[in-house]
Amino acid sequence: MNTAVKSEGSAESARSPKLAPLYALPPLQYKYDAFEPALSAEIVDLHYNAHHAAYVKGANKAIDDLAEARSTSRFDMIGQLERNLSFNFSGHVLHSLLWRNLSPTGGGKPEGELAEAIEKYFGSFAAFKAQINAVCQSLQGSGWGALCWDPLGQQLIVQEIHDHHNNICTGSMPILVIDMWEHAYYLQFQQEKAKWVDTFWELVDWKDVARRYATVQKAGIGL
Ligand code: MN
Repeated sequence: MNTAVKSEGSAESARSPKLAPLYALPPLQYKYDAFEPALSAEIVDLHYNAHHAAYVKGANKAIDDLAEARSTSRFDMIGQLERNLSFNFSGHVLHSLLWRNLSPTGGGKPEGELAEAIEKYFGSFAAFKAQINAVCQSLQGSGWGALCWDPLGQQLIVQEIHDHHNNICTGSMPILVIDMWEHAYYLQFQQEKAKWVDTFWELVDWKDVARRYATVQKAGIGL
């Protein structure tokens, strides 16, 4: 007899294979060559269609695999399935955010409340940039530099995210993300990470970041 604990309602909690995939690749707001010559069409195309798409697929598979594990009460692979969910889901979220953070008409500096907040929490825009640039340069392996809202301290913080899902302050909400995985820059900039980061600053859509800043401030986490 299978002695695994099966909670009531587990049958309902399993997603039917007939359901459409939960996560989908969001449409880009621009063409692959929109950032030429600063950022090549080849990188945008591959980054979106090969890498981001793989995280969407992986996140959907993890959800389905977890539903299957529940419906069969087989949890021998649970640790790996939960890691797969965290890695792929987080990869999907960060890339979806990255695409919205970029604009062919981006660059410049933040304005208004976002600019004031950056000065308030980091001392100056230059100090904020120095911190996140240092994160992007010093990352060992793959990861992200991220500007996030800390809903507990009600402040902006910079985080160094490892892979897509590690070294994160739980509950914090990213509003600006810089992809420091080699696939984000190597085809064009090779080992020169700083050139990719400089390019990101030329393309960043501060209006998008400002909209996100306004939104996350309203999203308390009830602590
Ligand atoms: Mn990436």
